[in-house]
Amino acid sequence: PERVFSGVQPTGNLHLGNYLGAIRKFVTLQQSHDCLFCVVDMHAITVWQDPARLRAQTLEIAAAYLAAGIDPEKSIIFNQSHVSAHAELAWIFNCVARMGWLNRMTQFKDKAGKDKERASAGLFVYPNLMSADILAYKATHVPVGDDQKQHLELARDTAAKFNNDFGCPDFFPLPEPLIKGAGARVMSLKDGTAKMSKSDPADNSRINMTDDADMIARKIKKAKTDPEPLPGDVEGLTGRPEADNLVGIYAALAGVEKEHVIADFGGQGFGVFKPALADLAVEKLSPITARMREIQGDEAHLEKVLKDGAGRADAIAAPIMREVKEIVGFLV
Ligand code: ATP
Ligand code: MG
Repeated sequence: PERVFSGVQPTGNLHLGNYLGAIRKFVTLQQSHDCLFCVVDMHAITVWQDPARLRAQTLEIAAAYLAAGIDPEKSIIFNQSHVSAHAELAWIFNCVARMGWLNRMTQFKDKAGKDKERASAGLFVYPNLMSADILAYKATHVPVGDDQKQHLELARDTAAKFNNDFGCPDFFPLPEPLIKGAGARVMSLKDGTAKMSKSDPADNSRINMTDDADMIARKIKKAKTDPEPLPGDVEGLTGRPEADNLVGIYAALAGVEKEHVIADFGGQGFGVFKPALADLAVEKLSPITARMREIQGDEAHLEKVLKDGAGRADAIAAPIMREVKEIVGFLV
């Protein structure tokens, strides 16, 4: 049977890229699949998180899931640290995945910065925890942004190596990434070659899910562009990363192809295109933002949703973990 797993880190500053690349897809997938949507707090602490803020940020992601339209009756919404299988399986995968594989991960290189000696050991083995997140439920499909493609490949390699090393050919499925479509890679508003990120210190680089209409309009107005008007065809966006990004964001928000956006705005300057993009962003985001605030007002309800989800998630993962332990040779 097909099963979907995905997660978002409670690292603050939830943004348009997270929505278009991940959360929006979750809402569609729950119609056709059994889904688990996790707030991955254990991933978040691979870089320093202030404990009080981590709590608030965790509830914020849960609120965003609900506000975007994930139905907690249909899908399982839960917190990673509430289900012990994640940590347990991650340890086993630390012993399956190879140093050489992890050394090739570009996210570690980006996040560790220049001084790799000072990065946490957790940041280095982050991909193994992600493999565990997925495989603790034998999930088959993983909707993520394009930046997670390399980690998904590592998860497949780890599943295959486990199955092979322990002589259990079909035990773990090889999980498939679901990355396609507009919005899979939303870039920074300040640099068309860097992805929009929660952890970018420049707030102007992203549209936050909590930004109001004025703030969204201001950030889009200030977004970096080149001086040329929009090209007459999509090929003309090649070599113009900032223009390409804004057209891509418009297309993703409107649910159309970039060709369609160019057909409407080709030849126009950014003085025309940016206000249209800002209006569209506000139209699509503000109802979600309003619902998020409402839901965040009821912490008791959010905590109940997460507790209930954790129970249901644990019920799936526990028997799988028991089998894993038997396969590895632990006494059970
Ligand atoms: P951080 O900087 O803390 O890593 P992030 O913005 O990368 O934050 P994550 O919580 O790591 O967000 O990722 C959550 C989901 O959002 C993942 O599926 C990821 O691929 C997706 N995602 C993140 N950034 C983008 C982006 N710029 N465009 C599209 N999808 C994105
Ligand atoms: Mg990230």
